[in-house]
Amino acid sequence: MTDLSNSSVPRPTSEIASFHAHVYYDPAATRLEAERLRSWMGERFSVTLGRWHDVKVGPHDQAMFQVAFAAEIFSELVPWLMLNHGRLSILVHPNTTNPRRDHLADPLWIGPPLAVHGDRLPEEAAMEPAPAPNTQPHLRP
Ligand code: ZN
Repeated sequence: MTDLSNSSVPRPTSEIASFHAHVYYDPAATRLEAERLRSWMGERFSVTLGRWHDVKVGPHDQAMFQVAFAAEIFSELVPWLMLNHGRLSILVHPNTTNPRRDHLADPLWIGPPLAVHGDRLPEEAAMEPAPAPNTQPHLRP
């Protein structure tokens, strides 16, 4: 019999301190689309919009910006992104204490999946609660 896990009990969702959505774009082709999605999000969700990375950074294989959000926002934000990502690929991953596993084994993709360079991610990190939101939502999703 195959051992599917090194644990005999399921992992509780309390392992998840927060979530990230990484919104990827092509600076030459889809940056305007990314800008529009970013302002739409800011108008509708209480999240932390990270800065623009027009060049590849960390484990990411394309230009992107990060959206950090609390677990309570997931059920509204993620379905909304499914409907509104357009041509953009988005990586949604949990933040536990294992960034490599979070990005490579446990994420979900909206749009076509892209490469993630897991060798640049640690297998151990401190819990990362969602930072204070920097948006002021005033429209309903
Ligand atoms: Zn991330």
